[in-house]
Amino acid sequence: MIKAVRGTRDLLPPDTDLWNRVEAQVRDVFARYNYHEIRTPIFEDTQLFSRGVGEETDIVTKEMFTWEDKARGQSEKAQSLTLRPENTAGVVRAYIEHGLDKKGTLQKLYCIGPMFRRERPQKGRYRQFYQIDAEIIGPPSAGSESPLRDAELLEMLATLLDEVELHDWQLQLNSVGCAEDRARYNQALREALQPVVHLMCADCQRRAETNPLRVLDCKVPEDQPIIEKLPKIGQYLDEPCRAHFAAVQSMLNAVGIAYTINERMVRGLDYYTRTTFEFTHGGLGAQSAVLGGGRYDGLSESLDGPKAPGIGFAIGEDRLILALQSQGEKPAEKVQAYIAPLGAGMNRHALKLARELRRAGISADIGDETFRLKKSFESAEKAGARFIVIVGENEVAAEQFAVKNLASGEQVQVPRADLAAHLQR
Ligand code: AMP
Repeated sequence: MIKAVRGTRDLLPPDTDLWNRVEAQVRDVFARYNYHEIRTPIFEDTQLFSRGVGEETDIVTKEMFTWEDKARGQSEKAQSLTLRPENTAGVVRAYIEHGLDKKGTLQKLYCIGPMFRRERPQKGRYRQFYQIDAEIIGPPSAGSESPLRDAELLEMLATLLDEVELHDWQLQLNSVGCAEDRARYNQALREALQPVVHLMCADCQRRAETNPLRVLDCKVPEDQPIIEKLPKIGQYLDEPCRAHFAAVQSMLNAVGIAYTINERMVRGLDYYTRTTFEFTHGGLGAQSAVLGGGRYDGLSESLDGPKAPGIGFAIGEDRLILALQSQGEKPAEKVQAYIAPLGAGMNRHALKLARELRRAGISADIGDETFRLKKSFESAEKAGARFIVIVGENEVAAEQFAVKNLASGEQVQVPRADLAAHLQR
């Protein structure tokens, strides 16, 4: 038997009803904050990620699905392609490629779709997973650098999580400063690591050389006491970065959004500058981050684009759904009506009635005239229907149908013209 590949999974009903409910609510929130959808390809030139996300990140060193694509015909070149492991680099590529900076306004863009990372699969961690991404990006003249953007984005996330009814989420906040701050911080880390790095894991030994900041991403339990004692980024922020971070916090305080500062949270991608954040949820176990994001003021330039500061986030949709399910969220939307044709020749009447009801906004399933009444009731219950509507010769002739509420057992006769309204109730 051929099975789904390790780390991938099928999403089946009724879970997909919950996925769709969440996506509809999320799109509604985005619309109210004036975000518009962008759809970028799921594979890109490998360089986009190695340069955008960073050569020394876990994603680029060990998690990308990359292949050499053969040239077909002389007009094509062989090239290295990669399934997108994240979406910000792709959105910024599109921003540059389509000259969106020339519009002179802030671009508020969102995207929902699959991402791919070759991680060790476990609950809440898959090799194909789904993200809901959003970005605010634009020229500095449009206010893209303002801490107001950070606060507005975080406020939107709080609203979004409240509206999908995720309870007890927590916001963790940090600032990783600008490139110069991080250069100084990296130097301090290098010095602090020097006497202890030989006690750490092989990855940390390499990172201590190449990109010491990434040591803070280490998950190896034995390394944690060493990491806890390392210098903290907060002490290395310059005055503008410090002021920017203070302004973000004061606006969050003004709108009443609670957060904790977590100075270890530098996030696993190199493009972040200044504000970084994660929202976590207790129902997720080890993989507790429902979403993460931050500012990326230099990313566009590093991809040969114009100066285009931005901030964005990615919600792990698989984890958001798991967190909702851990709260006892039941996805099952019941079908409103099960239409049971009674006896020979009744199928077409049932189909006609179903058509009327469905066009009136009622969800309906249809049985078959070869079913007996008892079988129809069983099928209606299996389908999870709220009502069963009997379509027999007498009913059709009288334009009046027997309708039974399957939960209460109550049965009434309802005129055809009133049927949709009755079932809606
Ligand atoms: P990142 O792009 O690494 O900042 O991740 C953003 C969010 O995507 C995380 O907070 C997770 O919720 C989710 N995520 C990242 N990697 C995975 C994965 N392998 N499986 C499921 N969700 C993931």
